[in-house]
Amino acid sequence: MAIKLSDYTAPAFAIARTEIDFDLDAHATRVRSKLTIKRIDRHAADLVLNGEKMMLERVAVNGRDLGEDEYAVDDVSLTLRGLGDEAVVEITTVIDPSANTELTGLYLSGGRFCTQCEAEGFRRITYFLDRPDCLSRYTVRVTADKAGFPTLLSNGDRVEAGDLENGRHYAVFEDPFLKPCYLFALVAGRYDSIEDRFVTRSGKAVYLAIHVDPGQAGRAWFAMDSLKRSMAWDEAVFEREYDLSEFHIVAVRDFNFGAMENKGLNIFNSSLLLADPDTATDADFLNVEGVVAHEYFHNWTGNRITLRDWFQLCLKEGLTVFRDQEFSSDQRNRAVQRISDVESLRARQFPEDDGPLAHPPRPGAYEEIDNFYTATVYQKGAEVVRVIRELVGKDAFRSGMQTFFDTCDGTAATLEDFVGSFNFSSEADRAAALRWYEQAGTPQLHVETVYRPGDDAVDITVRQVIAPTQGEPDKTPLPIPLRIGFLTATGEPARLGTQAGGEVSDEHHCVLREDRQTFTFHGASGRVIPAVLRGFNAPVRLHTDLTDEDRLVQVAHEPDPFTRWDAGQSLMASAIIAAADGKAQDGPDLDRIAGALRTEFSRPDYDPGFAASVVRPPVLSDLFQMTGTPDPEALYKALIRARQTLAHALKDLIEDELQSPAPAPDALDNEAIGRRALRAAFLSLQAARGPEAGDQLLAAFKAAGNMTETMAALRGLSQAGGQAFDTALEAFEIRWRDDALVMDKFFSIQVASATEGLERAHALSAHPLFTLKNPNRARALYGAFAMANPRQFHAADGSGYAFVADGIIAIEAVNPMTAARLVRSFETWRRFDAGRQSKAEAALRRIRANTHSVNVHEMIDRTLGD
Ligand code: ZN
Repeated sequence: MAIKLSDYTAPAFAIARTEIDFDLDAHATRVRSKLTIKRIDRHAADLVLNGEKMMLERVAVNGRDLGEDEYAVDDVSLTLRGLGDEAVVEITTVIDPSANTELTGLYLSGGRFCTQCEAEGFRRITYFLDRPDCLSRYTVRVTADKAGFPTLLSNGDRVEAGDLENGRHYAVFEDPFLKPCYLFALVAGRYDSIEDRFVTRSGKAVYLAIHVDPGQAGRAWFAMDSLKRSMAWDEAVFEREYDLSEFHIVAVRDFNFGAMENKGLNIFNSSLLLADPDTATDADFLNVEGVVAHEYFHNWTGNRITLRDWFQLCLKEGLTVFRDQEFSSDQRNRAVQRISDVESLRARQFPEDDGPLAHPPRPGAYEEIDNFYTATVYQKGAEVVRVIRELVGKDAFRSGMQTFFDTCDGTAATLEDFVGSFNFSSEADRAAALRWYEQAGTPQLHVETVYRPGDDAVDITVRQVIAPTQGEPDKTPLPIPLRIGFLTATGEPARLGTQAGGEVSDEHHCVLREDRQTFTFHGASGRVIPAVLRGFNAPVRLHTDLTDEDRLVQVAHEPDPFTRWDAGQSLMASAIIAAADGKAQDGPDLDRIAGALRTEFSRPDYDPGFAASVVRPPVLSDLFQMTGTPDPEALYKALIRARQTLAHALKDLIEDELQSPAPAPDALDNEAIGRRALRAAFLSLQAARGPEAGDQLLAAFKAAGNMTETMAALRGLSQAGGQAFDTALEAFEIRWRDDALVMDKFFSIQVASATEGLERAHALSAHPLFTLKNPNRARALYGAFAMANPRQFHAADGSGYAFVADGIIAIEAVNPMTAARLVRSFETWRRFDAGRQSKAEAALRRIRANTHSVNVHEMIDRTLGD
């Protein structure tokens, strides 16, 4: 049954106080709640509390136990009739954490208790008004066996603790801030902890602690360092200070997503918290840094200001992703960060927007809210905040954010509240900005440049086209900020003006508001090369009328790093696609492209990390997106040949870099990370030479001083194939078989091999260390195969689709949320040829017939378009 935004009604009852007492037991945890209920709507008669998968043991109102005929209970709710304006409701439920494989509600992971309540997991702990606009003040008491569960944690401040008889102990927590129940958390177990302290800018000391599996404390320091940097950054940039006197992070092995921002008690998938150079790659370190920041930033954008309803999810997620992207840009290299964010937007959100799963950042309806934690809500949501910043300007953005914090603190807000905080030049402009949240589909921009020599003028005409999406046949134009700059034909900056004879400048901030608009620039003494989306400040697909020659000039001379990188990417893609079509002579010449890419290495502002992005050709799935009906085999072959050509053309640079000493293995500064990224990009070009590159790659594997280098060599070996790959894998498995996070890499690197991945995936599904119960491991096999091995996933005989379908069916039986996410790998199925489509459809129908959950069925039905 679909839940609709248009059906929203304010809650009829409030829960002013929530007192909960947990008596923890692996099989029968008793949860006693005492809720102080206030009636808001005088006409409301029934209080309907959400609750599922629990045993209800007792209900009392104002101290009197109710008989079974005095309340109604079904699979999903408990209804109490005839409450007065104020009532104290007491409820006792019993739950079985050991049987909870879905990893939502209260469950056990590695023998430790933890909770996951977002979005609707609290209703599996106790009966409650499980909706984000029900804000309550919590007091939580936890009792557990002391020897087995020495650490007890919940939100807020610990106000009391002590020992009890029978070897049990307890602790009481008070959270002074109002919060919705999805931010509730409880943790109990044996942990190794690291502690630290942060003094806020107003002088308040905050106790910080990270709790990890015993023996893992040596891998928590980087997360702690990231946390302190995040706290300082949010004060400096958004004027946001931390508000409690304690902040805890707990690592959990079995976790459905990345991490969770529970108030004062963040819970993390251990893969996004634990890192040291021996076991984690630089990419892992950067992910830890970004996610620690993301969850911390939620304390203001999500927790202090929360959501009125789940349709507003983008209010906290899009905004918080924007904030963590900005944080990473300030901590690292802004251009490299922007490129990686855009790569991921294009790889994950654009296909979503193009296919059957398209939805606006604020969807209008859902069956299962867990299915809407999407690239559109997170990544496009972040881009929309960036668009707003461009539209109102940096200063107005800063003050608008402060207005938002001031006016919405302590409330459950909407996207209207957010957009309403900014000073737009008109109400129409504000309404237009809000439309970005309400409309699905990626705008396609078509740019035409006309040079008028007589007038020394250049007309840039931009059209925006938004293709219809499911249920939205007609689209309205969106306000699209464009930063436009020009080069002369020889690559000098061309300073033009918007008035004939008027002031000139390097860059112009324009806004496209209509379907089609012409922007005229004056003072061009010859043909100029426009860059119309400098910085990529809007989530659009850009189609320009630039020639290959123009792009070659941009690669060598464009001052905007994003545009420079993008010009190189589109040239490489054109060359590969032309070759795959058998028309290599019609595409740009790869040797000339390589010649232009070389200039990156002699720039005065040379940066190895940026250079790494520049020399990395597009990946196969990017090429699928750029072609009408992709031919996976032809594109794969053309891509390999292109890499060989690039390896040859850049031979001297590659040899120079690979022969010079590697950066210190434990250095994590931008220079070291950048150089390792460049070396990895070069190794991967070398690997295109096939098995003959095996010796060099195996030598690199053996010489590797940390996990980044190990994985770069292994990735190369996985592409080159042959005996050398097996030799390396054997050594890797012996060295790391007891380390779960590293062994996830052992699985995912093998299934990503474009030549041997599927065969290896079948074998790995019978590996003794394979388990469906751990989402990281399940994703390392099925998710990595579907996402990182597009050639074999889209195999013409349907074998790739069938393999992933088997995985989804098996995972669904234990964890529907994780299974439903894997269905997304089929989202582009209609873009392929008829033969592949029928194989994909058969796989989807087979999943439908062999699963039961709303999670998976909603995803399948939407993917099929039924
Ligand atoms: Zn988030």
